Amino acid sequence: MRLVEEGERIPLTLYDWDPKGGTISMVFQEVGKTTRLLAKMAAGDRILNLVGPLGLPSHVDRFGRVVCIGGGVGIAAIFPIARAMKLAGNEVISIIGARTADLLILEGEMRSVSDRLIVTTDDGSKGRKGFVTDALRDLLEGGLRADRVVAVGPAVMMKFVSETTRPYGIKTIVSLNSIMLDATGMCGVCRVSVGGRTKFTCVDGPEFDGHEVDFDLLLDRLNQYVEEERRIAAADC
Ligand code: NAD
Repeated sequence: MRLVEEGERIPLTLYDWDPKGGTISMVFQEVGKTTRLLAKMAAGDRILNLVGPLGLPSHVDRFGRVVCIGGGVGIAAIFPIARAMKLAGNEVISIIGARTADLLILEGEMRSVSDRLIVTTDDGSKGRKGFVTDALRDLLEGGLRADRVVAVGPAVMMKFVSETTRPYGIKTIVSLNSIMLDATGMCGVCRVSVGGRTKFTCVDGPEFDGHEVDFDLLLDRLNQYVEEERRIAAADC
């Protein structure tokens, strides 16, 4: 998405779509200049460019029992995946987590597509106190057998979800949020290392096997422009 001619391009994940009505829905968090500008737009305003869907579709199949995990804004992206997994005939157990109850989104929607929903908050203001990984560990240590885990959220969450499932050998899919520019495989900014090979999140992903992702490299690369983002946000205030 590019809002204005001189603006940056930002990647956002679809939360829902209505082919008949011709609409798409996205949930975003105000984190930098562009998302702040987007939040200021009113109904009827125009976005300069919107291109998509880009990348590869989520792999949905009848796996059996699937655990869908969403952290923070990532809950918006796990929702259509959980819904599709349910429609494909899977038993869907969902875990959604936020820092605090106020930041928890789409609880009702997630409940409607899940056989079981577990809510966590970091501060204990709603549901189980702790991270989504704590709830996942409870389930696995309690003997739950899962055929697949799909996780969307902050990179550090996806790293620890993958570490939690690794000893159990449960296939774990993560949706990477690396920095992107053109999103068509030309610029290479979104490159990640998966199984020791360089992949482009925009065209080869965004979903990859979490047990093969080099999360430390991803986390380093995600932090590259934090200072610039802070400076621009401060200048705008
Ligand atoms: P956040 O920092 O508020 O964290 C949300 C939840 O993630 C926490 O409540 C916790 O349960 C879990 N978590 C956080 N740190 C953890 C840790 N160290 N170990 C285990 N679990 C941990 O999240 P936010 O600010 O809402 O950010 C959401 C992130 O999701 C952003 O980084 C965004 O880029 C990403 N995202 C990705 C996609 C995608 O398609 N890949 C889509 C939407 C959002």
